[in-house]
Amino acid sequence: MDMMPFAEAYERALARVEPISGTEEIVVAQALGRVLADAVHAPDNVPNHDNTAMDGYAVRFQDLAATGDTILTVVDEVPAGSRLERVIGQGEAVRIMTGAPMPDGCDCIVIQEDVTRDGDALTVPTGQVQGKWIRRTGQDIAKGSEVFAKGHRLTPPDIGMLASLGRSSVDVVRRLKVAVVSTGNEVVQPGNPLELGQVYDSNRHSMIAVLQALGVDILDLGIISDDREAIKTALLKGADEADVVLTSGGVSVGDYDLVKDVITEVGVIDFWKVRMKPGKPQAHGRIGKAVFFGLPGNPVSVLATFLLLVRPAMLVMMGCAPAPLREMVLPFKGEPILKTHGRAEFARGIIHYDGADTSVSSTGSQNSGILTSMSKANAFIVLPVEPCEVHQGEMVTVMPIEY
Ligand code: AMP
Ligand code: MG
Repeated sequence: MDMMPFAEAYERALARVEPISGTEEIVVAQALGRVLADAVHAPDNVPNHDNTAMDGYAVRFQDLAATGDTILTVVDEVPAGSRLERVIGQGEAVRIMTGAPMPDGCDCIVIQEDVTRDGDALTVPTGQVQGKWIRRTGQDIAKGSEVFAKGHRLTPPDIGMLASLGRSSVDVVRRLKVAVVSTGNEVVQPGNPLELGQVYDSNRHSMIAVLQALGVDILDLGIISDDREAIKTALLKGADEADVVLTSGGVSVGDYDLVKDVITEVGVIDFWKVRMKPGKPQAHGRIGKAVFFGLPGNPVSVLATFLLLVRPAMLVMMGCAPAPLREMVLPFKGEPILKTHGRAEFARGIIHYDGADTSVSSTGSQNSGILTSMSKANAFIVLPVEPCEVHQGEMVTVMPIEY
């Protein structure tokens, strides 16, 4: 099979999955990162009354002289949380605190820094602006408007928004469930001694960590040796109990790369060779009703393929609208990149945030086994399929990394 261009793999990865069904009602305080099962509309205006944005005095603009000072009489006060029953008449003013409702008849706030007060007598200088410092009813959210669309993934300010609408609970898509497996005879659980030729299982930990950041349920199936039956048992269990089966290792062309073989036996592979580096061998398929992602074994490739192809597809499964990867263009600095191979490269890069001088550099060696490169990186530098060189000052395409 030919290698698939990355852009096509991205489209295929998203197009071949569907949103899971099933919703649940949860409390708003626990809804961060969850995906809305329905649109949210405003049951009322926010704020639900005209109120003052500043501490000061509520007055009638028509009472103020066009030139010179005006003396008004302070007749009452309204702290936040209370309201005034009386209507304010000519020549009257009300002491008012931030957040308090505008008294009837008043249409102007004079901030306290601008006035002088002597007993009930209030001196207001000229130059006040009608309507200024008044937060209007519905200025944040208008009653009946759609605040969030179905499929919106809730951010921290969204949680505050839901609360400001008076919502205490919200309907969300149930959590996606993902089974995670590491494969390899050489792979060892951290905490045990390491013999020559063995390697600690960083991949399952990386996978679980990125899944935790995504907010899915995780079924940890541990480390499976390169044994056809053991792999088969694990994959079938994962497919039976989860929406997604995610594996690392065993999808290349080596003698012990059995994951791919087992999938063709118990499921189907949709595509597996992508013209990208890192991550040329990776398997996208299905086992029964579960979606299967077979990630490469190299620790960098695991994270790169997860972030670039698996995470976006999982978001679609979680009920979010398919989204394009986010790119920006920045000047390159530092040691040049010399790329000789014929695959699109997602080099690990560091964006140096420095205002208008923001730039990106390489993390150094781009070997797929060097997990440090991923740990240092905050972006991928996207290099075209053709061999190329990138030198200081040249503009490059960059994808900031999001976890
Ligand atoms: P594979 O794709 O199974 O041939 O693995 C490629 C490389 O990744 C080998 O050097 C493996 O030892 C390494 N590797 C595979 N699985 C893991 C893992 N879970 N943690 C760390 N390294 C791994
Ligand atoms: Mg292996």
